[in-house]
Amino acid sequence: MEYQCHGGRAVVTAVLAALTSSGLRQAEPGEFTRRAVEHGRLDLTEAEGLADLLEAETEVQRRAALAMAGGALSRQIDSWQLLILELSARAEAGIDYVGDADETAIDTTVLLEETQRLSFELSQWLLRPRSELLKEGLRVVVAGPPNVGKSSLINAMSGSDRAIVTPIAGTTRDVIEVPMAIDGMPFLLIDTAGLRESNDSIEKIGIERALAEMHKADLLLWLGEADQVPGGLQAILVHPKSDLRKGRHDALEVSSRTGAGVAELLSRLSREARMVLPVEDRVALNNRQAALIGQAALLLEDAPNDLLLLAEVLRATRCVFDRLTGRAGIEEALDGLFNRFCLGK
Ligand code: GDP
Repeated sequence: MEYQCHGGRAVVTAVLAALTSSGLRQAEPGEFTRRAVEHGRLDLTEAEGLADLLEAETEVQRRAALAMAGGALSRQIDSWQLLILELSARAEAGIDYVGDADETAIDTTVLLEETQRLSFELSQWLLRPRSELLKEGLRVVVAGPPNVGKSSLINAMSGSDRAIVTPIAGTTRDVIEVPMAIDGMPFLLIDTAGLRESNDSIEKIGIERALAEMHKADLLLWLGEADQVPGGLQAILVHPKSDLRKGRHDALEVSSRTGAGVAELLSRLSREARMVLPVEDRVALNNRQAALIGQAALLLEDAPNDLLLLAEVLRATRCVFDRLTGRAGIEEALDGLFNRFCLGK
């Protein structure tokens, strides 16, 4: 039940006191969703989608979460489960077959081929970008020598003044993260300390952190000379302060002061992001789901050429999928079901 009342603290407290004295209690966080899962109205992947939906801040996050909450993965898992069930039934029928010694009721090679095919399909799913990337945003690290205009660029791109701009070199000593959305996609702009030889111990730590961030980056914007990108990292070359100096042909010219080139830089980031972020309206797996699908793929890939062992592998795979959807107790139901199978059906 949901109550609406005046927002004053005393009113809320009095209403809560009246309700609790009549034996009611407040719902725990996520309690209704949890109950829906426990009663089988939602499976775990749908509940995960719902949780993501509530946290979605950008359009692309919202759509991905909606697909998951709407059961897109859940339906896919159902169809995998059905296939495994069918393979299991055939394997078990083969084991039980007591017929002519020369005649095999079940062709193990064909079964193994189908198992391998499913394993391949699962491993293809693992190639998809993870939904965590969508949640946390693409890490765009802005790096270069001191005072080239890194902080100003971050402010110009995000339309904020989160990053500290000063004419004094070496002022950004720590890593500053500014979240923003471009075309509905989440990004995390990361300002770093300027790279230079320094004797200042605090600045040195900042520079080490900057290098670490550059290695972790999904996209790196380098505001220095093309041949000075550290460690041969892949970078988008940016020529800053284009209002002051003529640009280079190999770099994107921007001026944080006049705003020239900023829109072009943002659309370049948008294009790059589309290539690495999950495709819109296509289900993206989170790390938990991917780990379990990986387990299932591995089990099936190593399936042995022996009906008894194969049946066992298929059973284990079904359990992995049950963990994926959070549906427990299905094995008993299946045991009952199997007893009703007869050869070849
Ligand atoms: P960082 O140390 O690389 O982060 O550089 P800052 O963003 O702090 O900028 C250093 C100095 O350059 C500041 O005085 C800025 O006002 C100036 N600056 C930054 N971007 C531009 C620009 O596009 N044009 C001009 N004319 N000056 C800029």
